Amino acid sequence: MKEINGATKVTGIIGYPLTYTFSPPMHNKAFEALNLNYRYLPFVVEPNALENAIEGIKSLNIRGINVTMPHKEAVIDLLDELSAEAETIGAVNTINNDNGRLIGYNTDAGGFLKSLKEESFNPAGKTAIILGTGGAAKAVAVALARAGAASIVIIGRSGNKAEAITSSLISNFQEISGKTLTFRDNLADIFQIGELIVNATPVGMKESGDLLPVPLEFINASHFVYDLIYTPLETALINGARHKGAKAANGLGMLLYQAASAFEIWTGTSAPVEVMRQALIQGLKSGDRPDNAEEENRRVPT
Ligand code: NAP
Repeated sequence: MKEINGATKVTGIIGYPLTYTFSPPMHNKAFEALNLNYRYLPFVVEPNALENAIEGIKSLNIRGINVTMPHKEAVIDLLDELSAEAETIGAVNTINNDNGRLIGYNTDAGGFLKSLKEESFNPAGKTAIILGTGGAAKAVAVALARAGAASIVIIGRSGNKAEAITSSLISNFQEISGKTLTFRDNLADIFQIGELIVNATPVGMKESGDLLPVPLEFINASHFVYDLIYTPLETALINGARHKGAKAANGLGMLLYQAASAFEIWTGTSAPVEVMRQALIQGLKSGDRPDNAEEENRRVPT
């Protein structure tokens, strides 16, 4: 790895809490593989320090920053410009410092699409069901609309949040049809016509146990089930879907490709995706064995 010197370009991630993140090894291994004089660091930024931290990107001439929970939406008002996609989604996960102008991007959406492509699933013309109404659900919904999905069904705990996503989709993508449901509705019929099922809730994450976001009786062999969760790599939903003959994937690919896109924005160089994938898998393996339960509970999804 190149020695740190006066020309080293600094990148990193801001979030709170940020005890454990899989991003630093992915990016640092990628910089090393391409012999780039860059480093990627974690910056713990409490919500009340966000404004100062964003100013600091300019003052310290930091090259680029990833943004994770809870700042993905709050950061928007503090930036100079947004990519069209970040604007439509309403969330930023990557900031590029372009000679003092801070430009916000959302690489989660593109990362999700690249991962779907790697899984050989083409969402064009398909009906997708998204479980959850948070930041990841919004990014996935916009990604699928952009890729030509025919119909998107948003299922949330709150009908209002789900409706807000559906309305925004319909106003931004005239071709698409949208539907809003809640987990309390009768969901059997909608799963009969759904082709892609995306879990964008944290239900099934390691700390929540073997929980399912929806009953397995709704899943059938014609579904492609994509769980955004990657700890564990095989959730109860993925496991159950595979037993029913459905194809299923975890969120590792999305995490990898959102990072690869951020890398390319900052460096202008193609990301060494396989190096990043190996660093991520390594990180996930050691992350599976946290030193203590507190560490486990404080993981963030980036
Ligand atoms: P978020 O903004 O906090 O949204 C979470 C969503 O899940 C909200 O709609 C929330 O509902 C819903 N939810 C929470 N608990 C639930 C439950 N018990 N039953 C039903 N719905 C529930 O989080 P996010 O950033 O969107 O992340 C969501 C998931 O995606 C997390 O597991 C995260 O790790 C994963 N993720 C993965 C990637 C990747 O690269 N693979 C990227 C981003 C996120 P309320 O609004 O009612 O609270």
